[in-house]
Amino acid sequence: MISLKTERQIKLMREACIISARALRLGGEAVQPGVTTQEIDNIVRKYIEGCGATPSFLGYGGFPASACISINDEVIHGIPSSKRVIKNGDIVSLDIGAFFNGYHGDNAATFAAGDVMPEAQALMDATRESLYQGIAQAKVGNRLGDISYAIQRYVEDRGFSVVRDFVGHGVGANLHEDPSVPNYGTPSRGVRLAKGMTIAIEPMINAGTEKIKVLPDGWTVKTLDGKLSAHFEHTIAITGDGPVILTNPD
Ligand code: MG
Repeated sequence: MISLKTERQIKLMREACIISARALRLGGEAVQPGVTTQEIDNIVRKYIEGCGATPSFLGYGGFPASACISINDEVIHGIPSSKRVIKNGDIVSLDIGAFFNGYHGDNAATFAAGDVMPEAQALMDATRESLYQGIAQAKVGNRLGDISYAIQRYVEDRGFSVVRDFVGHGVGANLHEDPSVPNYGTPSRGVRLAKGMTIAIEPMINAGTEKIKVLPDGWTVKTLDGKLSAHFEHTIAITGDGPVILTNPD
Protein backbone atom coordinates (compact mmCIF):
# COMPACT_ATOMS: atom_id res chain seq x y z
CA MET A 1 0.00 0.00 0.00
CA ILE A 2 1.35 3.40 -0.95
CA SER A 3 1.18 5.95 1.86
CA LEU A 4 0.46 9.43 0.53
CA LYS A 5 1.79 12.28 2.65
CA THR A 6 0.11 15.58 3.42
CA GLU A 7 1.97 18.85 2.89
CA ARG A 8 2.60 18.98 6.62
CA GLN A 9 4.07 15.48 6.63
CA ILE A 10 6.30 16.34 3.69
CA LYS A 11 7.54 19.41 5.58
CA LEU A 12 8.47 17.20 8.54
CA MET A 13 10.09 14.69 6.24
CA ARG A 14 12.13 17.44 4.60
CA GLU A 15 13.92 17.96 7.94
CA ALA A 16 15.04 14.32 8.08
CA CYS A 17 16.08 14.64 4.45
CA ILE A 18 18.17 17.78 5.07
CA ILE A 19 20.06 15.98 7.85
CA SER A 20 20.58 13.02 5.58
CA ALA A 21 21.77 15.24 2.72
CA ARG A 22 24.19 17.22 4.87
CA ALA A 23 25.59 13.98 6.30
CA LEU A 24 26.14 12.77 2.74
CA ARG A 25 27.87 16.02 1.80
CA LEU A 26 30.14 15.79 4.85
CA GLY A 27 30.91 12.14 4.20
CA GLY A 28 31.67 12.95 0.58
CA GLU A 29 34.10 15.69 1.55
CA ALA A 30 35.95 13.10 3.66
CA VAL A 31 36.45 10.77 0.68
CA GLN A 32 40.20 11.14 0.13
CA PRO A 33 43.07 8.72 -0.50
CA GLY A 34 44.38 7.38 2.82
CA VAL A 35 41.10 7.72 4.72
CA THR A 36 39.42 4.54 6.00
CA THR A 37 35.75 3.82 5.41
CA GLN A 38 35.36 3.52 9.19
CA GLU A 39 36.52 7.13 9.59
CA ILE A 40 33.87 8.26 7.13
CA ASP A 41 31.20 6.28 8.93
CA ASN A 42 32.23 7.93 12.21
CA ILE A 43 31.87 11.40 10.69
CA VAL A 44 28.44 10.55 9.31
CA ARG A 45 27.17 9.02 12.54
CA LYS A 46 28.46 11.90 14.66
CA TYR A 47 26.77 14.44 12.43
CA ILE A 48 23.41 12.66 12.33
CA GLU A 49 23.34 12.02 16.06
CA GLY A 50 24.49 15.60 16.71
CA CYS A 51 21.32 16.75 14.93
CA GLY A 52 19.24 14.69 17.36
CA ALA A 53 18.46 12.20 14.60
CA THR A 54 19.15 8.48 14.25
CA PRO A 55 21.11 6.88 11.41
CA SER A 56 18.41 4.97 9.51
CA PHE A 57 20.69 2.11 8.49
CA LEU A 58 22.34 1.42 11.85
CA GLY A 59 20.89 -1.90 12.98
CA TYR A 60 18.47 -2.05 10.03
CA GLY A 61 18.18 -5.74 9.22
CA GLY A 62 21.31 -6.08 11.37
CA PHE A 63 23.46 -3.65 9.31
CA PRO A 64 26.37 -2.70 11.60
CA ALA A 65 27.05 0.91 10.51
CA SER A 66 25.48 4.29 9.75
CA ALA A 67 26.63 4.54 6.14
CA CYS A 68 26.90 1.96 3.40
CA ILE A 69 30.29 2.58 1.78
CA SER A 70 30.94 0.73 -1.47
CA ILE A 71 34.18 1.09 -3.43
CA ASN A 72 34.78 0.51 -7.17
CA ASP A 73 33.16 -2.83 -8.13
CA GLU A 74 31.05 -2.80 -4.97
CA VAL A 75 27.54 -1.75 -5.93
CA ILE A 76 25.84 -1.14 -2.57
CA HIS A 77 25.76 -2.18 1.11
CA GLY A 78 29.54 -2.08 1.69
CA ILE A 79 30.35 -2.31 5.39
CA PRO A 80 32.69 0.40 6.76
CA SER A 81 35.94 -0.95 8.20
CA SER A 82 39.07 0.45 9.83
CA LYS A 83 41.02 -1.90 7.56
CA ARG A 84 39.56 -0.49 4.36
CA VAL A 85 41.73 2.37 3.14
CA ILE A 86 40.57 4.49 0.21
CA LYS A 87 43.14 4.72 -2.58
CA ASN A 88 43.82 7.34 -5.21
CA GLY A 89 41.57 6.65 -8.20
CA ASP A 90 38.85 4.84 -6.25
CA ILE A 91 35.21 5.69 -6.72
CA VAL A 92 33.37 5.56 -3.41
CA SER A 93 29.60 5.29 -3.06
CA LEU A 94 28.05 6.52 0.17
CA ASP A 95 24.44 5.67 0.99
CA ILE A 96 23.10 7.46 4.06
CA GLY A 97 19.74 7.75 5.78
CA ALA A 98 18.56 9.73 8.80
CA PHE A 99 15.43 9.28 10.92
CA PHE A 100 13.99 12.43 12.49
CA ASN A 101 10.49 13.64 13.44
CA GLY A 102 9.15 10.17 12.66
CA TYR A 103 10.40 10.17 9.07
CA HIS A 104 13.36 8.90 7.09
CA GLY A 105 15.45 10.68 4.49
CA ASP A 106 17.54 8.47 2.21
CA ASN A 107 20.22 9.51 -0.27
CA ALA A 108 23.40 8.34 -1.95
CA ALA A 109 26.18 9.56 -4.18
CA THR A 110 29.44 8.28 -5.64
CA PHE A 111 32.56 10.36 -5.00
CA ALA A 112 35.97 10.34 -6.68
CA ALA A 113 39.04 9.83 -4.48
CA GLY A 114 41.87 11.81 -6.03
CA ASP A 115 42.30 11.35 -9.77
CA VAL A 116 39.96 8.80 -11.32
CA MET A 117 40.10 7.28 -14.79
CA PRO A 118 37.96 8.96 -17.48
CA GLU A 119 35.77 5.81 -17.70
CA ALA A 120 35.05 6.02 -13.98
CA GLN A 121 34.17 9.70 -14.28
CA ALA A 122 31.89 8.96 -17.25
CA LEU A 123 30.08 6.26 -15.25
CA MET A 124 29.58 8.59 -12.30
CA ASP A 125 28.39 11.44 -14.52
CA ALA A 126 25.91 9.22 -16.37
CA THR A 127 24.55 7.73 -13.16
CA ARG A 128 24.05 11.16 -11.56
CA GLU A 129 22.38 12.54 -14.67
CA SER A 130 20.13 9.48 -15.01
CA LEU A 131 18.82 10.20 -11.52
CA TYR A 132 17.80 13.71 -12.62
CA GLN A 133 16.26 12.32 -15.81
CA GLY A 134 14.19 10.00 -13.64
CA ILE A 135 13.21 12.75 -11.20
CA ALA A 136 12.00 14.92 -14.09
CA GLN A 137 9.39 12.23 -14.87
CA ALA A 138 8.08 12.14 -11.27
CA LYS A 139 4.97 14.16 -12.07
CA VAL A 140 1.32 13.74 -11.16
CA GLY A 141 -0.40 11.73 -13.90
CA ASN A 142 2.76 10.04 -15.17
CA ARG A 143 3.36 6.39 -14.31
CA LEU A 144 6.17 4.73 -12.45
CA GLY A 145 7.46 3.23 -15.70
CA ASP A 146 8.13 6.74 -17.01
CA ILE A 147 10.70 7.28 -14.24
CA SER A 148 12.21 3.82 -14.71
CA TYR A 149 12.44 4.11 -18.47
CA ALA A 150 14.05 7.57 -18.39
CA ILE A 151 16.86 6.23 -16.19
CA GLN A 152 17.36 3.05 -18.21
CA ARG A 153 17.35 4.85 -21.53
CA TYR A 154 19.85 7.45 -20.42
CA VAL A 155 22.47 5.01 -19.13
CA GLU A 156 22.03 2.30 -21.76
CA ASP A 157 22.46 4.92 -24.49
CA ARG A 158 25.89 5.52 -22.97
CA GLY A 159 26.83 1.83 -22.89
CA PHE A 160 26.22 1.22 -19.18
CA SER A 161 23.90 -1.32 -17.54
CA VAL A 162 21.16 -1.10 -14.94
CA VAL A 163 21.29 -3.34 -11.86
CA ARG A 164 18.07 -5.36 -11.77
CA ASP A 165 18.31 -7.07 -8.39
CA PHE A 166 18.01 -3.89 -6.32
CA VAL A 167 15.61 -1.00 -6.86
CA GLY A 168 14.41 2.29 -5.39
CA HIS A 169 11.44 2.47 -3.06
CA GLY A 170 8.80 4.52 -1.34
CA VAL A 171 10.10 6.16 1.85
CA GLY A 172 8.48 7.93 4.78
CA ALA A 173 7.70 6.71 8.29
CA ASN A 174 9.35 3.50 7.11
CA LEU A 175 12.69 3.37 5.33
CA HIS A 176 11.25 1.08 2.68
CA GLU A 177 7.64 1.57 1.62
CA ASP A 178 5.62 0.80 -1.48
CA PRO A 179 6.05 1.16 -4.37
CA SER A 180 9.28 -0.42 -5.61
CA VAL A 181 10.98 1.97 -8.04
CA PRO A 182 13.00 -0.02 -10.60
CA ASN A 183 15.64 1.71 -12.69
CA TYR A 184 14.41 -0.11 -15.79
CA GLY A 185 10.93 -0.33 -17.25
CA THR A 186 8.36 0.61 -19.86
CA PRO A 187 6.92 4.10 -20.35
CA SER A 188 3.23 4.59 -19.44
CA ARG A 189 3.23 1.39 -17.35
CA GLY A 190 2.97 0.79 -13.65
CA VAL A 191 1.51 2.73 -10.75
CA ARG A 192 0.05 6.14 -11.59
CA LEU A 193 2.02 8.84 -9.81
CA ALA A 194 0.00 10.92 -7.36
CA LYS A 195 0.44 14.02 -5.25
CA GLY A 196 1.88 13.14 -1.85
CA MET A 197 3.97 10.18 -2.95
CA THR A 198 7.47 10.24 -1.46
CA ILE A 199 9.98 7.96 -3.14
CA ALA A 200 13.69 7.26 -3.14
CA ILE A 201 14.93 7.07 -6.73
CA GLU A 202 18.34 5.39 -6.80
CA PRO A 203 19.98 4.25 -10.03
CA MET A 204 22.69 1.63 -9.45
CA ILE A 205 24.61 1.56 -12.71
CA ASN A 206 27.39 -0.78 -13.83
CA ALA A 207 30.15 -0.24 -16.36
CA GLY A 208 29.92 -3.89 -17.50
CA THR A 209 27.35 -6.57 -16.83
CA GLU A 210 24.21 -5.76 -14.84
CA LYS A 211 24.71 -9.02 -12.92
CA ILE A 212 25.80 -8.86 -9.30
CA LYS A 213 26.80 -11.17 -6.46
CA VAL A 214 26.48 -10.84 -2.68
CA LEU A 215 29.66 -11.47 -0.68
CA PRO A 216 29.79 -14.01 2.16
CA ASP A 217 29.48 -11.12 4.68
CA GLY A 218 25.81 -11.21 3.65
CA TRP A 219 25.76 -7.50 2.75
CA THR A 220 28.31 -6.32 0.22
CA VAL A 221 26.95 -6.41 -3.33
CA LYS A 222 29.56 -6.52 -6.10
CA THR A 223 29.45 -6.56 -9.86
CA LEU A 224 29.85 -10.11 -11.15
CA ASP A 225 32.51 -9.10 -13.69
CA GLY A 226 34.53 -6.91 -11.30
CA LYS A 227 33.88 -3.73 -13.30
CA LEU A 228 32.93 -0.44 -11.69
CA SER A 229 29.53 0.54 -10.33
CA ALA A 230 28.05 3.92 -9.33
CA HIS A 231 25.02 4.89 -7.26
CA PHE A 232 23.11 8.14 -6.84
CA GLU A 233 19.90 8.61 -4.86
CA HIS A 234 17.51 11.32 -3.79
CA THR A 235 14.35 11.21 -1.72
CA ILE A 236 11.73 13.21 -3.59
CA ALA A 237 8.12 14.26 -3.11
CA ILE A 238 5.60 14.36 -5.92
CA THR A 239 3.63 17.60 -5.54
CA GLY A 240 1.09 19.57 -7.52
CA ASP A 241 4.02 21.71 -8.67
CA GLY A 242 6.10 18.77 -9.88
CA PRO A 243 8.88 16.79 -8.21
CA VAL A 244 10.62 18.30 -5.18
CA ILE A 245 14.02 16.95 -4.11
CA LEU A 246 13.77 16.60 -0.33
CA THR A 247 17.39 15.49 0.14
CA ASN A 248 18.77 18.83 -0.97
CA PRO A 249 21.31 19.94 1.64
CA ASP A 250 20.66 23.70 1.22
MG1 MG B 1 17.35 3.85 -0.71
